[in-house]
Amino acid sequence: MNIHEYQAKQLFQQYGIPVPKGKVALTTDQAVSVTSEVSQDAWVVKAQVHAGGRGKVGGVKLAKNLDEVKQFASDMLGNRLVTKQTGATGLPIESVLIETTYDIKREFYLSILVDRASERVIFVSSIAGGMDIEAVAEETPEKIVTVLVDPAAGLQPYQCRQVAFDLSLEGAQIKALSNIMAGMYQLLQDKDASQIEINPLVETESGELLALDAKINFDDNAVALHPDIVELRDEGQEDEKENKAQQYDLNYITLDGTIGCMVNGAGLAMATMDLVKLKGGAPANFLDVGGGTTTEKVCEAFKLILSDHNVKAVLVNIFGGIVQCDVIAQGILTAVDQVHVNVPVVVRLEGTNAEKGRALLNDSDLGLVAADNLASAAEQVVALAKEAA
Ligand code: ADP
Ligand code: MG
Repeated sequence: MNIHEYQAKQLFQQYGIPVPKGKVALTTDQAVSVTSEVSQDAWVVKAQVHAGGRGKVGGVKLAKNLDEVKQFASDMLGNRLVTKQTGATGLPIESVLIETTYDIKREFYLSILVDRASERVIFVSSIAGGMDIEAVAEETPEKIVTVLVDPAAGLQPYQCRQVAFDLSLEGAQIKALSNIMAGMYQLLQDKDASQIEINPLVETESGELLALDAKINFDDNAVALHPDIVELRDEGQEDEKENKAQQYDLNYITLDGTIGCMVNGAGLAMATMDLVKLKGGAPANFLDVGGGTTTEKVCEAFKLILSDHNVKAVLVNIFGGIVQCDVIAQGILTAVDQVHVNVPVVVRLEGTNAEKGRALLNDSDLGLVAADNLASAAEQVVALAKEAA
């Protein structure tokens, strides 16, 4: 789960990580009225969306007077922001953060995340932070430094000093950085975050260290343990179809192909997507309807798949292990009938009562294609999707 920058900065404050003075605003009038609480002469207006890369596309603007604050806030609010991280449709801007500006001397990168490979918590830092960290990682990887923290021992003072030296910090700044790192480590642990990113962490002209940007990602499997974090959720920033799927206990991920996939079992769903690719097609989604599939679930799954207008054909791949194929076939027929499926549907049924299931599909007049095996099912659905496109 993601949260907004202003929410992340509120959490930072609770953990002693210094952030610029700022206020969130939902309307242009609010944006103007909070300015006096933030600063007297200059402000930054920042679009609040669940994505980075805002600075490069006009989502972060420096305002020198109130007219500019008004102008930038009204340009942003109610519009969508498309950044490198959002996909072509972008994300809605429903709030802006008004912040104090700073004279920046240097911009660093500092993040903490769970590193599965080393089974450690890892700090990633760079002296070359700011808006081009991706290019730094690609072109000058030696400028990215990592420190592994053993969760049994916790974060050690020498590890903070190591990062401070890598960022060529001096004197009181070393202590300041240690406090920031300790706050990040504690926050990650307390709230089951999977990643906290500060880019940029800045050194101001007066030598202060501040988190100018803030990004926190929470582990979806643990978020239910933290009601205060659940409250920060903004569904308007999330994929509508994926949220709908969650309601029906379906595992659904939107992709950008043309072939809708409905499969029972995550492993089988992955294999199905691979096969669609192998046969020259592209899956429109990952969808695991789970083991104990019911007609209702199949109906909802069809609705979800078809709400994506890129879908030109659907491949249903069900292995009847716990459930029987004739029950599934009946469910598919009911769903196709109820949902008014208007694209070709290829069904591959295997397992208990597969023959009976296929017979039911063949006898219906809903125009379903019952395939004999998975390879031919994939071939047929790819051909049908190409025809329809
Ligand atoms: P994003 O990562 O989405 O582009 P950031 O919050 O990192 O957004 O802002 C982009 C850039 O804007 C920063 O690298 C920094 O140079 C500048 N910036 C952001 N906030 C401030 C601020 N309060 N004062 C001065 N400059 C800022
Ligand atoms: Mg940033």
